[in-house]
Amino acid sequence: MGSYSGPSCRLCRREGMKLFLKGARCGMAKCPIERGRPPPGMHGQRRGRKASGYGVQLREKQRLRRQYGLRERQFRLVFSRAVRKRGVTGEMLLQLLETRLDSVVYRMGFAPSRRAARQMVGHSHVLVNGRRADVPSMVLGPGSLVEVRQIGRSRELVRRGLEAMQGREPPPWLSVDAKNFKGSLLRIPSREEIGPLVNEQLVVELYSK
Ligand code: SF4
Repeated sequence: MGSYSGPSCRLCRREGMKLFLKGARCGMAKCPIERGRPPPGMHGQRRGRKASGYGVQLREKQRLRRQYGLRERQFRLVFSRAVRKRGVTGEMLLQLLETRLDSVVYRMGFAPSRRAARQMVGHSHVLVNGRRADVPSMVLGPGSLVEVRQIGRSRELVRRGLEAMQGREPPPWLSVDAKNFKGSLLRIPSREEIGPLVNEQLVVELYSK
């Protein structure tokens, strides 16, 4: 299952908000959202009609899906796993997304964006609990140790990622030892810790129709 490989900024313009898909460049003044660029396409500048209830739910789902760089089918699979878990479905969905290996690598600061983290994992630059892991969708549990492989190419890649993201603190559910290129997942994050990405309840309502 491939992932979207088109221009990242186009997705942010479509959603009308910063999705932070390009790492350090997202903090710069030339970010199209900062510059007030309209949605893409020939009708992008037209003032849209008020969105219907379905339209609002759909946009919210697209925003969440695109932040994690998933295709619709992959996203549906994560959602169906969230439904099967005990607890509030929206929160389970966010937890499953946040504990994916590519997301953890990104949050640890080893890659400047989730897309870069996904590529890093796919190219076997990381180990999970001492074993090579090349599946970005792998869901980690508490105590999982993520380590960059001890080969020059992998570490150089991460060093550049860390330099680009200087000042970005890892979230409280992760511990990072940047000097030794490793970190661990301390616990599953709570909804409040994950932050206000979207209104996930609207995503649940959309898929529950
Ligand atoms: Fe989105 Fe980053 Fe592009 Fe801005 S620079 S539009 S936040 S991907």
